[in-house]
Amino acid sequence: MRFTCRWLTWLCLSLMLWTAVVESTHNHPNQTESASCSICVVAHSTTPAASCNHTRPVFEAVGLLQEEEVIAKARFSVCDLGIRGPPAV
Ligand SMILES: [Zn+2]
Repeated sequence: MRFTCRWLTWLCLSLMLWTAVVESTHNHPNQTESASCSICVVAHSTTPAASCNHTRPVFEAVGLLQEEEVIAKARFSVCDLGIRGPPAV
């Protein structure tokens, strides 16, 4: 299993490498063959120009941050801790 997986990995990598080499180095003896070749058609096609119709963002101050002092109200409750309070006198 391990040998087969390793062998398939090398096979796939070598196929990818040879495909890249063949695609980049192939040539045609005349123009008619290159017109029907899918690799050449894709290689010589123009890239689409990026168009953007978005409006520019407008940066504007919408308000001023006003800080307020926050006082935390802590509450200690004996019953919350599960401890019995002192006996009432
Ligand atoms: Zn071609």
